[in-house]
Amino acid sequence: MRKLHHFHGGVHPPSNKAQSTRTAIAHAPLPSRLAVPLHQHAGEAAKPIVQAGDRVLKGQLIGMPDGFVSSAVHAPTSGTISAIDMQLIAHPSGLPNLCATLIPDGREEWIARRSVDYREHSSAELQHLLRMAGVVGLGGAGFPSDIKLRIGKQKITTLILNGAECEPYISCDDMLMRERAVEIVQGAEILRYMLDADEVLIGVEDNKPEAIAALQQAITAGGSALQQNKRHEVVTIPTIYPGGGAKQLIRVITGLEVPSGKLPTDVGVQCFNVATAYTVYRALAHGEPLLSRVITITGNVRNAQNYEALIGTPITELAALAGTLPDTSGYIMGGPMMGFPLPALDVPMVKATNCIIAASEKLFPPPPLPMPCIRCTRCVDVCPADLQPQDLYWFAQSREFGRAQKFSLFDCIECGACSYVCPSHIPLVQYYRFAKSEIRAREHDKQLADQARVRHEFHEQRIEREKREKAEKLAAREKAAQTAKLAGTQSLTPQQQAAQTELEAGRAHIIELAKSEVEHVKE
Ligand code: SF4
Ligand code: SF4
Repeated sequence: MRKLHHFHGGVHPPSNKAQSTRTAIAHAPLPSRLAVPLHQHAGEAAKPIVQAGDRVLKGQLIGMPDGFVSSAVHAPTSGTISAIDMQLIAHPSGLPNLCATLIPDGREEWIARRSVDYREHSSAELQHLLRMAGVVGLGGAGFPSDIKLRIGKQKITTLILNGAECEPYISCDDMLMRERAVEIVQGAEILRYMLDADEVLIGVEDNKPEAIAALQQAITAGGSALQQNKRHEVVTIPTIYPGGGAKQLIRVITGLEVPSGKLPTDVGVQCFNVATAYTVYRALAHGEPLLSRVITITGNVRNAQNYEALIGTPITELAALAGTLPDTSGYIMGGPMMGFPLPALDVPMVKATNCIIAASEKLFPPPPLPMPCIRCTRCVDVCPADLQPQDLYWFAQSREFGRAQKFSLFDCIECGACSYVCPSHIPLVQYYRFAKSEIRAREHDKQLADQARVRHEFHEQRIEREKREKAEKLAAREKAAQTAKLAGTQSLTPQQQAAQTELEAGRAHIIELAKSEVEHVKE
């Protein structure tokens, strides 16, 4: 049995997952309209390549990746594009984003799909295919997966599949592992091949026994390729929040510590979510771009359940499927610890939408008014990143951002464990988010100012250079004229030379007089 390790801190909030795991994943019906955001992943937005009025097929490319960190966007079903415009999307900023609105025709007519045998392709070729299939991390961050697979010369020893799903209420990964374990394991093998990793460890919390059994069975059924040298292994880890944080999971499974400011690849590990592995398999083995995902609809609803829904489906239509109760006061995207309230209900689900919680005052009573920090250090005890949350709070509040950075603010994973235990009910994470955004904004401003300064210096240097070149040309011309003149005067008689000298002295005198007159006029 594999030896497990511990990370510092962690909390045990009520899991509230049972409500949504009683029934199998259902397919959400085709919605009345889909709004597909062109920016639903980290990095640059995809560039729209369709126009209003275009008929599109299911899986057709509608947004081309634009930039190094970017990913493709596709039509989730067949129909007609009715608009390309700015709409509100499910994002904490509450800002609108460019979306393609698609009116489904109900035919679900696919593009031609081509399956690929990954063993016949290089990692670089497969990375390109995944980029064009719009595959991004489905664990929440939405980072384009092809970028995480470009590891250069670094040796990756271990690929970790994250099936911990430690956030309360969320159960989409659990249900996916129970029902589609074979595809997840096949996707893991593709990722292992691409990274040339020695082993695949699938980390699952011990509160998901059905998922663990299904994965183990899938590995056994996968035959020699998966079992060779025990390449694939399900690792059961203790249930503790936030055990699914990448650094925490790596620590628990391998004992390796990812240093501050470093990436898992720096210690020879790469992590992907189990749902991402599933999507990688569908993209390569079936030629299906990322058009849908499993999403948990839970909270203040009659029938909490997991649905496979098309990207772009309005949240209102999904919430209606689960039967929202009349006293619902709002909706949270993600879990109660790390999620955020939706800016409006009529927003579309995106690739990163793993859970929608209907909230009510009964489920989430308004927090008591914050009180002053009493330096009890309970937040320190639970912080999984070994930070001093009370000091970070103080620096953020007093806008001492430099000191917050020195105290490793950016190592904070915003898990909310500190806020969860704070007896003074201080919304600590909000302070950290504020401090981070201020620092990023200042760095952005500084970058712009630096660029402007470099541009100005370059401009000054150019003017100086042009002046110098002009003066050099003038001097060269004068020298040439003097040489020519000297050559001319040498052929004059002494009387002619004297007359010439007198003439030039007269000219110089006239020029001096003219100059002094100009100076006089200026004064
Ligand atoms: S838990 Fe709250 S009151 Fe206690 S030290 Fe941390 S911030 Fe202060
Ligand atoms: S939110 Fe940040 S500071 Fe608070 S416990 Fe989590 S990692 Fe630590």
